[in-house]
Amino acid sequence: MKITVLGSAAAEAMPALWCECETCAIARERGGRDVRRRTSYCIDDDTLVDFGPDAFWQTTSFNIDLRKIDRIVFTHRHSDHLNPLDLAWRRDGFSVVTKPLKVFGSRPVFVRLMKEVAGEGAAFRLEELRIVPQLLQHGKRIEDGGLGILPLAANHDVGGSPFVHVFSRGGRKVLICNDTGFPPEATWELLTGQGIDAAFIDCTCGIANPDVANGHMGVNTVVKVRDRLMACGALKPDAQVFANHFSHNGHALHADLEAFFAPKGIGVGYDGLVVSC
Ligand SMILES: [Zn+2]
Ligand SMILES: [Zn+2]
Ligand SMILES: [Zn+2]
Repeated sequence: MKITVLGSAAAEAMPALWCECETCAIARERGGRDVRRRTSYCIDDDTLVDFGPDAFWQTTSFNIDLRKIDRIVFTHRHSDHLNPLDLAWRRDGFSVVTKPLKVFGSRPVFVRLMKEVAGEGAAFRLEELRIVPQLLQHGKRIEDGGLGILPLAANHDVGGSPFVHVFSRGGRKVLICNDTGFPPEATWELLTGQGIDAAFIDCTCGIANPDVANGHMGVNTVVKVRDRLMACGALKPDAQVFANHFSHNGHALHADLEAFFAPKGIGVGYDGLVVSC
């Protein structure tokens, strides 16, 4: 499998648009890996994980051709991961779109989609956007186009049925584990023994708040999650592990994160990172 990190920031992006904090000032100065778009991923050129407000910038920067995308799998309904407006341009009269798009998500994802793309008085429907909805449930594995999708409950967005996902294809497995705090026990039960090849773990709270474990995670909690994933056989012994989804409020400068994580054998996500496994 090939995973392209299309974004590595939390909701505000980095440097955050309006922010006067020191981290954002340094990020503006340094550019490069300190400029972070809102988090999403592309798997094997045919699948997106989340579709947020930076989709235009991500597709043009990283050569992603949305005409080749067969499906979008959503983690949750938050606006940094789901931007209904850019799905609405699939309508006749705005774009030429014949290919259907499967959209996988929890019920709250579709509630937001219906409310925002179905427009005033439901003037247009998901069918008019050629969107085929597929409901996800914790622990129920779905297979589509040779891609396995196993959604598991996340510790995040109470009431929003957020998921982390284990994707599998061609005998390889990838865990996308943002946005979440330390995962709930129901999720650990199903992660045990998975033998995952690559994992991306939420690090929203970064270096500034290292021990946060509820809703999001700081750097120390990322290490704890990696250690437990390894101990229960969720990860293969040689798995590639990355921290990702960073907030400027966590002082998430790339060099500082690398200094923390490199000795622990954990990589640091950045926009444009390609991981093959
Ligand atoms: Zn987020
Ligand atoms: Zn800031
Ligand atoms: Zn979120």
